[in-house]
Amino acid sequence: MASYDVIIIGSGPGGYVCAIRCAQLGLKVACVEGRETLGGTCLNVGCIPSKALLHATEMLHEAEHNFAEMGLKGKSPSVDWAQMLAYKDKTVGQNTGGIEFLFKKNKVDWLKGWGSIPEKGRVKVGDEVHEAKHIIVATGSEPSPLKGVEVDEETVVTSTGALKLNKVPKQMVVIGAGVIGLELGSVYARLGSEVTVVEYLDAITPGQDAEIARQFQKMLTKQGLKFVLGAAVQGVSVKNKKATVSYKMRKDDAEAEITADTVLLATGRRPYTDGLGLDALGIAMSDRGQIEVNDRYKTSVDGIYAIGDAIKGPMLAHKAEDEGMAIAEILAGQHGHVNYGVIPGVIYTHPEVASVGETEETLKEAGRAYKVGKFPFMGNARAKANFMGDGFVKILADKETDRILGAHIIGPMAGDLIHEICVAMEFGAAAEDLARTCHAHPTYSEAVREAALACGDGAIHA
Ligand code: FAD
Repeated sequence: MASYDVIIIGSGPGGYVCAIRCAQLGLKVACVEGRETLGGTCLNVGCIPSKALLHATEMLHEAEHNFAEMGLKGKSPSVDWAQMLAYKDKTVGQNTGGIEFLFKKNKVDWLKGWGSIPEKGRVKVGDEVHEAKHIIVATGSEPSPLKGVEVDEETVVTSTGALKLNKVPKQMVVIGAGVIGLELGSVYARLGSEVTVVEYLDAITPGQDAEIARQFQKMLTKQGLKFVLGAAVQGVSVKNKKATVSYKMRKDDAEAEITADTVLLATGRRPYTDGLGLDALGIAMSDRGQIEVNDRYKTSVDGIYAIGDAIKGPMLAHKAEDEGMAIAEILAGQHGHVNYGVIPGVIYTHPEVASVGETEETLKEAGRAYKVGKFPFMGNARAKANFMGDGFVKILADKETDRILGAHIIGPMAGDLIHEICVAMEFGAAAEDLARTCHAHPTYSEAVREAALACGDGAIHA
């Protein structure tokens, strides 16, 4: 029986980051992973493969729409789908292999196989039982099912199947207008599929600042995606590899159907804790299947902790990573913590959408007085030159103190631009602090500064 300070179950961004941090802090650590490769959902079937396909199809879009105007003439590239999937797989392989390398470098043992916790202080992997002072559950999540929809990962797929379809479908129906559905829907729309997104709510990207969500929907519609909002899917039937999605409009119960070659079920994800033996241990769970933890990630059983998608909070890789680092530091006697008020969310469509902190809706609900500084990318020289003039930066600041409370960006590199605001928020900055910071010209970042200026005496180029 091998003995460790810490055994982590699951090697996603929560688990692998935690393992490396534990090792750096001098703890003897092992990470259990049942998949063939490390990196969890994120590296294998999530963030990384989806971003590879988004990048490739964005390049295609650029070639089809903007090359000629820049004087780059000639035939647009044709799509070799098998090669695009090979590029995506290579990208995944480089990243998962990278984690294996980091485990060796940091002396983290990879215990290969599916783990369970037969009792406190013990982790069973295959026939072997290992001992650990601390056990961290980082087993992530799986796609949520929907009543009446049977997934076969061929015609009716989850995001996992959508990342490896054997051909580009003529028509695709996406059920759910959340981040995953819209990212993958826009990949296939750029590849020529007719994509219809069916959403239960009356707006896309629930929880998003409403003004951004409306603008985002307009942009996606211009790119060819169709939306049916306020529609409750009743079921999907498959005949001769064609799927029919039936839905009911919520406002008047009118019934309708759409037929497609592929249906992507993207109605969210739920924690995955199967086979761990948590019930027998008496670990408290929420009614949504999340492992309950305190503010130091401890479950209801001493010595057992949980992080990432398996607990409450946004299901995001960087949230899982930060929790992984925090718990490692806590177990090493330090003071790790995560500021849940400053966790950015990014949608990697073209253009990107990024948000952090409060929205206008949450501020109104809290009755907090705020001001809005907005700046359109149309006023940004770099964005105009790069055909990226659509969209805007919006900063929300406290009306009295000018402290930044949130920010929302739709436009070029929004997912990178948002971090300047995250750092400012971590330091408790006022909009004026951003506005007085010199920003290089010509960059997209100038639009962030202009939005900060707009919180005060006004933007210069608006
Ligand atoms: P996971 O990454 O789910 O890893 C858990 C691991 O535990 C898995 O490898 C699993 O095999 C293993 N495991 C489970 N049970 C056991 C067991 N009993 N024994 C051994 N191993 C076990 N997030 C972002 O921040 N940005 C994005 O761009 C983004 N894009 C996404 C795109 C898609 C298509 C999907 C599906 C998700 C995306 N996400 C994105 C979400 C992100 O992938 C998750 O939030 C993140 O992976 C959660 O990390 P985790 O460590 O909690 O769990």
